Amino acid sequence: MGALEALFLALAAGLSTASPPNIVLIFADDLGYGDLGSYGHPSSTTPNLDQLAAGGLRFTDFYVPVSLCTPSRAALLTGRLPVRTGMYPGVLRPSSQGGLPLEEVTLAEVLAARGYLTGMAGKWHLGVGPEGAFLPPHQGFHRFLGIPYSHDQGPCQNLTCFPPDTPCSGGCDQGLVPIPLLANLSVEAQPPWLPGLEARYVSFSRDLMADAQRQGKPFFLYYASHHTHYPQFSGESFTERSGRGPFGDSLMELDGAVGALMTAVGDLGLLGETLVIFTADNGPELMRMSNGGCSGLLRCGKGTTFEGGVREPALAFWPGHITPGVTHELASSLDLLPTLAALTGAPLPNITLDGVDLSPLLLGTGETRSTGSLLCEVGNTRLISTPRLAPSPGSAHSDTTADPACHAASPLTAHEPPLLYDLSEDPGENYNLLESMEDISTEVLQALKHLELLKAQYDADMTFSPSQIARGEDPALQICCQPSCFPHPICCSCPDAQT
Ligand code: MG
Repeated sequence: MGALEALFLALAAGLSTASPPNIVLIFADDLGYGDLGSYGHPSSTTPNLDQLAAGGLRFTDFYVPVSLCTPSRAALLTGRLPVRTGMYPGVLRPSSQGGLPLEEVTLAEVLAARGYLTGMAGKWHLGVGPEGAFLPPHQGFHRFLGIPYSHDQGPCQNLTCFPPDTPCSGGCDQGLVPIPLLANLSVEAQPPWLPGLEARYVSFSRDLMADAQRQGKPFFLYYASHHTHYPQFSGESFTERSGRGPFGDSLMELDGAVGALMTAVGDLGLLGETLVIFTADNGPELMRMSNGGCSGLLRCGKGTTFEGGVREPALAFWPGHITPGVTHELASSLDLLPTLAALTGAPLPNITLDGVDLSPLLLGTGETRSTGSLLCEVGNTRLISTPRLAPSPGSAHSDTTADPACHAASPLTAHEPPLLYDLSEDPGENYNLLESMEDISTEVLQALKHLELLKAQYDADMTFSPSQIARGEDPALQICCQPSCFPHPICCSCPDAQT
């Protein structure tokens, strides 16, 4: 055997036996396209995320399929449009009977089957169910520390922010149990002390990484921070430190957590073997004004299908594998499951997926969806958005902006002909091509025809699963650390040892 041949054989053996990369998937909540420094915000303090952006691939055209928590999270973890999984319309509540059906295959299940140690910290929001049947430990996560839904889905007067004993501002949901912090299926505190939460999630994450390394396994960490969902909170090191008010402090704490996670990866010597992905579930909750986020130059925010609702910052960082840069390729949270399956050598679930494998784009070996399309949905209404077409329902989440089309008073409207925007030239969706051009060009008419064809195909092919959210509510399903206490539900209160 020649030396060169031996070298090739050794390289091939190395490739085939190389362990798959660790995955850190960081998911922010209600964070807008314009909120990070690396996406142009003038007063955000996000040095760690900006460092990931500078050293990794920054997406300018990354979408979520629905601009609300529950359906967006379902899409992220399954690679499937929420109408296929039943996670529509709207969001799950603490007493909801439905949840992500157990027969759906999650990213955690895909990676656990590939030998990963899997863990989730943070906000779940894909259902609780009887005996916690829909919680992460039943959906592929070996370990879970988090709150099963949004932290405003309970009475705010039970929440304290920093300094200690300061009530968090905000109008949260009354008549419900205080929010529980769960460790796997057990209540750790109800409610938890919010200023200590992010540090707790980081510590959980650090343990997961170290334990995986000790066990000789790769790890998958799904870090779904509560930041920057309303009401805003932050720990002592971040409160009044950002220069952008409570929202900025909350974002700065999220950024600090990203830095701490990267330090933990580095301390284990795993930076070159760990793919870090950052994005968010939906656009900013503009109804909170400066205490919500910022969609930058994009139109509207959370709850709408305008760009500000569904287009998100997204970063992919993997030193030595992903070349730093900026991509304008169309990409989606739906793509992560097929992408991570490809990068880790995990088999794909035998089920219809709506995402594509982005690994050629990440590794610089090819294009993925340069001429394709993406679908976005509102409730059970199917609408094609991007590359060049947008629909227009408003939402209370996007009230208070100057543009009335964003508001709840702007009803879900079928547009015939549709609204058509060239997002390359007009990312703010100011100029409907079908109204603003004196002579509509052949190119525009062809684009319109193409999109209408895609929409017709979607209508013909899509199978809707029954809505899990429409299954209704049973107050007895709310998690209570003292099940037989009185008066229910407010008595479901167990002090947090870590305050
Ligand atoms: Mg959200």
